[in-house]
Amino acid sequence: MEELLGVRVPPPRDDFAIREVTVDTALRANPLPGLDYSLNPYVGCYHGCVFCYVPRIMQIDRAAWGTSVVVKRNLASVLAREIRKLPRGLVAISTATDPYQFVEGRYRITRNALEVLLRAGWPVSILSRSGLMLRDVDLFTQFSQIEVGMSIPTLDDEARALLEPWAPPIESRLRCLGKLAEAGLTTFVSIAPAYPPTGGWDAASVADAFARAGVRKASTRLLDARWGVRDAMLARLEGSSLAPELARISDRPYMESYLAALADASEARGIAFRRWDTSRRSGFYGPHTKKD
Ligand code: SF4
Repeated sequence: MEELLGVRVPPPRDDFAIREVTVDTALRANPLPGLDYSLNPYVGCYHGCVFCYVPRIMQIDRAAWGTSVVVKRNLASVLAREIRKLPRGLVAISTATDPYQFVEGRYRITRNALEVLLRAGWPVSILSRSGLMLRDVDLFTQFSQIEVGMSIPTLDDEARALLEPWAPPIESRLRCLGKLAEAGLTTFVSIAPAYPPTGGWDAASVADAFARAGVRKASTRLLDARWGVRDAMLARLEGSSLAPELARISDRPYMESYLAALADASEARGIAFRRWDTSRRSGFYGPHTKKD
């Protein structure tokens, strides 16, 4: 495990393929409720999480997901051109890749795009699983409107290692959040898809860990187990002692009950908690309520 700015990141795999392209468009409008635009610096993702919804959306073979990445070399210049013409709006970085997967260390596509958005004064919401995000604190702190987040769907690193083995360890994500909060930034966690609590973690101890890291907001959604996701997960879990507990990730009543407890525990510690409800046709962000 390599150290980067004091955060451990997994080394690149030898068989991972990197390809460079130029693009004609940068921003995608209205990707999800509450967001005006999404910006994806890469196509594909080194982290290759087994539950990732992107292969389905992009109609990519799930077995090939996580084996390659396409780098959008000219993204910043295309973005600069687009934002001169489009109405100002909240840009989510990103919705279909990890903007700080290891290739970002070499190509700086995300950083260059952030510089463009900063100069234009556009608001940004940025989410990653990687501590490489800390490299760009100097930019984040210059934005007048920004929130920075980490995906932390479990606090149990053994569970993480089973379902997202090429993504950075949970401890490094918490440390990253702590450093972002120390820099005065508003931080959030995305608990998506929420894993069942394993490894002795319960709702109260998870919320404690988030609170210690200075997290201000949390959002969550349940796994969408369709489209071959459940089968892929069960195959990955085979032989693991955690399999019976983790297989409950698609047990909706069980997960609803855990998330209700996590919402209460989070709010009791001053963390605003929101649910992304995939059971509704359009989906929406809404504050947690007891009836959730
Ligand atoms: S980090 Fe995000 S985009 Fe990348 S594989 Fe995991 S869920 Fe998908």
